[in-house]
Amino acid sequence: MDAVGNKNVSHILVTHTHPDHSPAATSLSEITSAPTYGFGKHPLAATKKSDDVDETQQDDLEDRGDTDFVPDVEIGNGDVIVGQGFTFEALHTPGHISNHLCFSLEEESTLFTGDHVMGWSTTVIPAPDGNLSHYLSNLRRLLERSEMIYRPTHGPAIENPLPFVNSLIEHREERTTQIIAAINREPKTVKELVNDIYSDVDESLHKAAGSSVYAHLLDLARIGVVSADPDFDINAEWRVK
Ligand SMILES: [Zn+2]
Repeated sequence: MDAVGNKNVSHILVTHTHPDHSPAATSLSEITSAPTYGFGKHPLAATKKSDDVDETQQDDLEDRGDTDFVPDVEIGNGDVIVGQGFTFEALHTPGHISNHLCFSLEEESTLFTGDHVMGWSTTVIPAPDGNLSHYLSNLRRLLERSEMIYRPTHGPAIENPLPFVNSLIEHREERTTQIIAAINREPKTVKELVNDIYSDVDESLHKAAGSSVYAHLLDLARIGVVSADPDFDINAEWRVK
């Protein structure tokens, strides 16, 4: 509210319901009387940890959700929000979370990318609501667009964003190739895969790495490339079919 000063706030746009995003919206709405706009409530699949998921493999922050948030106005892909001097287009971009929206500000050729494209690291895809196929297809959608600058919710602004998006796609594709190669030799658990693939990465990051590897495996299982024994969960042994 200090930053807003005496300007009029007419709309509050919410990208998604992770705990570092939507929780302030409701109190800001009460102070400003501006309605909140969002895709919808926190998805059910993202609210609970499954019992058979190894807790040490979970990314704590992205696991909890803001289950209290309900947007005043539900919006979806292609919806346009016009206000005094601005035109926003909403893009539904599931992948990181199924209720994720990006917002394109026409007047400034700017895309507010939320957590879909971040300026400081790659996006976490927490299973089961996070979906790598959706994430990748929604990255590819951005390649067809013309915004000149991205303003993510974490990290600095991204100028010349298309090469940046391309490198995110390539990074995930390389990771997929690595995972297939590793379990082609012998079946492995997520933990073993992380030890293999991320051997040069600090162990404090292995939790997040595990959730990313798991997202890749679920995606490969969906298209029939890999299978898991005994069941599709994070503690299973994964093999190439
Ligand atoms: Zn998030």
